[in-house]
Amino acid sequence: MTANAIYLDSNATSKVHPRVVEAMMPYLTDQWHNPSSGYRAGQEVKAAVERAREQVASLIGAEPSEIVFTGCGTESNNMAIKSLARVIGRKHSRVVVSEIEHSAVLRPTEAMEAVGFDVKRVGVDGDCRLRLDQFAETVADDRPGFASIMWANNETGVVQPIEEAVEIANAVGWHFHTDAIQAVGKVPVRVDDVPVDFLSISGHKFHAPKGVGALFIRDGSPFEPMIRGGGQEAGRRSGTESVPFIIGLGEAASIMQSEIENGGLDRVSELRDRLQAGLGQQLNRVRCNTQSCYATPNVAHLAFEGCVASEMLPKLDAAGLQCSAGSACMTGKAGPSHVQKAMGFSDERAYSSLRLSLSIFTTEEEIDRAVEIIAEIARL
Ligand code: PLP
Repeated sequence: MTANAIYLDSNATSKVHPRVVEAMMPYLTDQWHNPSSGYRAGQEVKAAVERAREQVASLIGAEPSEIVFTGCGTESNNMAIKSLARVIGRKHSRVVVSEIEHSAVLRPTEAMEAVGFDVKRVGVDGDCRLRLDQFAETVADDRPGFASIMWANNETGVVQPIEEAVEIANAVGWHFHTDAIQAVGKVPVRVDDVPVDFLSISGHKFHAPKGVGALFIRDGSPFEPMIRGGGQEAGRRSGTESVPFIIGLGEAASIMQSEIENGGLDRVSELRDRLQAGLGQQLNRVRCNTQSCYATPNVAHLAFEGCVASEMLPKLDAAGLQCSAGSACMTGKAGPSHVQKAMGFSDERAYSSLRLSLSIFTTEEEIDRAVEIIAEIARL
């Protein structure tokens, strides 16, 4: 009965909001025209794409002209990183990332390292927060470079000290990219407050469908397109626009903006706290791996001493609870998560950890039932 399962894996992907589906439908049926076409039907579709651009810009405090639609978050990260690599050039330049980045930042920066860039990886403390002192030592004032530091981590939900990191990078004239894929739509992310040059967004993490993302490119920041062709997206990402998905992303952005402004995410964080407290009452050997004050409101990352998460997961699934041990794309990979290793966890603690990620659709009844299911399986 997977249809009725309790879903606590919203950091892997989130349920598409019914209002998003509704907003997309006309662009899958009657309004299927090409936004580049000059006749009225095409221009109406183009106007809808521009409205979606305004909605996404509004969510993060950007100008609409600074938003480029992409095919996914991975593409947004690659676009920013590969462009920056070309802009700074490999001679004497340095790239700084954190050890806890998603593979969509780690793999492209490893590819840069393979062709001669000096790539440095900065660690985090036991709370999964970037070590700013190390970051400051690594960012160099005598060479060109850029930093790519995630806004919030996908496994632990921990929000990074982005403002401080940007200040350090900007002080030496470096460019700054942030993978904000797990932060946008969950916590306020405002590029009018935090002067990053590039910021990646992925729709399916906040109730838009999979297969659409965006890259914020600050006006004036140097940018080299990765995909060239018909010149769509002001030449920054060619290819006929994926109109229905872009409309969906815009609608989801507007829904999440009002959720954030009207306390919807406070309700999510109360449910997360209820989950942690409930498990703490039921089980002696459960431990929060992160401090809630640092995490996005929807994530609980917990270690169940004496348990093995990979053995718990199929039992939880059979009992009607869907969650994960780390990130969805690490499922099936051997070894403890690189994030928990960076936090200094023992293998035993890392292997005993579950990530439970909620959304605005999570209910109190689901949380109470999830506590019962997890407690029962952890006691086995
Ligand atoms: N970056 C982070 C932090 C993520 O959590 C994810 C998705 O898991 C990605 C990048 C990749 O995004 P997408 O699935 O849209 O390619």
